[in-house]
Amino acid sequence: MKEKILDIVICPNCQEFEFKILIERRSDLEIREGKLRCESCGFNFLIKKGILFFHTKLSRSALNEGRALNKEISQKKLVFSQDDKWLLNFPRSQQLDIEQRADRMMKVSANNSLIFIKRLNQPGKKKRILEIGAGNCWLSAKLAEDHEVVALDVFTPFPKGLEAAEVFIKHRNIYFERIKADMIKIPFKDRSFDIVLFSAALHHSSDLKRTLKDIYRILAPDGRIVLLNEPSKGLFGSRERERVTRDLEDGIEENRYTIQEWKAAFKVIGFRHKAYLPSNFSEVLKTRGGIFYFCGFLLELIPFSLRKIIMNASKPVILFLFDGFFNAIIYKNKV
Ligand SMILES: [Zn+2]
Repeated sequence: MKEKILDIVICPNCQEFEFKILIERRSDLEIREGKLRCESCGFNFLIKKGILFFHTKLSRSALNEGRALNKEISQKKLVFSQDDKWLLNFPRSQQLDIEQRADRMMKVSANNSLIFIKRLNQPGKKKRILEIGAGNCWLSAKLAEDHEVVALDVFTPFPKGLEAAEVFIKHRNIYFERIKADMIKIPFKDRSFDIVLFSAALHHSSDLKRTLKDIYRILAPDGRIVLLNEPSKGLFGSRERERVTRDLEDGIEENRYTIQEWKAAFKVIGFRHKAYLPSNFSEVLKTRGGIFYFCGFLLELIPFSLRKIIMNASKPVILFLFDGFFNAIIYKNKV
């Protein structure tokens, strides 16, 4: 954590913003160990390994998620080769022991994120970005090459949580803040960010309306939310539901919304939105196998510009009928 973060944070306990920092250890780069004390309510927030633990009591769903991820790491359901190289190559590095389809899906989602982000990037324009549900921070690290980034998550242990960020910071000559906090109590001042980004994370909120309302507050007037790989529920979906059931057994909050429900949720807060199919839609189709694989294969034979037109035209029908993933840009201003 750097002192500068105090410009934008508010106390999760009392919403005031006068703090005192008690430094126990610092590196050339940041405060490594210490405390942040709220001058108003006296609450102490720990700084451990450079991460600010910025919450009071966590919500039930945040606690469950932590428990499930810890279990996953300890049971070695995912066997990580825990060296820096593995993380630096993430998500391209191979995940041993993970089900092949899940591994392929993860890479396809990551690819979608990279393509979509590239389209958003205007060179020379440094933005203030908050990634919520940043996990091991690979995407935050990528964005930190060009922007001012804060990574937020409820999970910190290496290699699935915020602690993994250090590997990127050490090797890539970048910096970004890591904050442990709950997405139903977002501890920032009004208008602190230009972009709030989620990668397959917003549906984990136990209170979607509350999260969206809080994001509306912390976004700059011309700010926007960028959603990547957010799942939507279709009329004929089934495959994804199997996975959802598994996650539910592990205690992770999984909410399934149809595209209409998503749109209604954005609208009621006052957002204006535009949804997209994944940038690499043909790859997504191919991961599904069978007839979908064939459709993906056919789609790739079509020239890119024409493919884009076809995808745009069929988007409403596809998102209505099938379980899938979408990207969206959600604008705060109504103009
Ligand atoms: Zn306070």
